[in-house]
Amino acid sequence: MDRISLIVPCFNEEANIEPFYNAVLDVFKNTSNETDFELMFVNDGSKDNTLQKIKALHEKDNRVKCVSFSRNFGKEAALFAGIRNVTGNCAVLLDADLQHPPATIIEMYKKWKEGFEVVEGIKTERGKESLFHKAFTKIFYNLISRSVGLDMRNSSDYKLLDKKVITELANLKERNTFFRALSFWCGFKKTTVYYEVAERVNGTSKWSTKALIKYAVKNVICFSYAPLHIVTVIGCIFVFIGFIVAVDAIISFFTGKAADGFPTLLGIILLGFGGIMVSLGIIGVYIAQIYDEVKGRPQYIIGEKIE
Ligand code: UDP
Ligand code: MG
Repeated sequence: MDRISLIVPCFNEEANIEPFYNAVLDVFKNTSNETDFELMFVNDGSKDNTLQKIKALHEKDNRVKCVSFSRNFGKEAALFAGIRNVTGNCAVLLDADLQHPPATIIEMYKKWKEGFEVVEGIKTERGKESLFHKAFTKIFYNLISRSVGLDMRNSSDYKLLDKKVITELANLKERNTFFRALSFWCGFKKTTVYYEVAERVNGTSKWSTKALIKYAVKNVICFSYAPLHIVTVIGCIFVFIGFIVAVDAIISFFTGKAADGFPTLLGIILLGFGGIMVSLGIIGVYIAQIYDEVKGRPQYIIGEKIE
């Protein structure tokens, strides 16, 4: 019998735990003799009764398990904690708010049975998102897609991964992870299934615009050296402009016209300083990331395990 592990990050999802569990039961109701499941909730430092709700479910159904963080470490950390603690032949990662319809698990499972090792959930339609959000995610995914070399538009964290992939991801040493791109990066035999993003059942999204921008910047840095190359290109452009200005000044000097000194100087200084500061800023962000990795702090701290 196949065992499917479900990895579910939860942050203040008390109202969704039970509906989610019931939806999962519904999905596995008809498959009970060929598949079994393990429901691994990762409590990401919830401040509400999420953990108590999970414990109550565990009391009546020991397939419900939980890794509970000592504080909020973010969804990425929660996904990876799940990946490192499941035992199934394959694992499906999905949100607790039922925006990733659990019914799609069966479709993913069938693909896995056909021999695919990464089954990716693709959103057919993004849920209700603001225009800004849409434009922003478009630019972001174009950048990432290019650096990973794969089309990542409309990709999501809703995925099924074979045990082999889970093992590879579990062994990664980096802390600033970007799950969506890393599961691509691993390779293996891939396919996709489509699903429609549902409305969030209970509660509100945990992503503020600020958090989203931070997430995007972090992940671009994680997966792309483009910003560093941009620095080089900007530097080259400045050198080129400086060269033209210098030649112009020399020609002016020898043809007897007085070079227009002060504005030229000011222009050069401003351009130069601007360029240097932008460059340092970008390099600084990379150094911060390196510092983060070198410190070697864990990505998360587990306060309690329920299994
Ligand atoms: N989540 C988490 N830690 C966080 C923020 C979110 O584990 O710091 C979980 C959340 O409980 C949900 C999933 O990640 O199961 C997706 O979060 P949310 O619905 O807020 O994001 P959205 O669907 O708006 O992208
Ligand atoms: Mg959601």
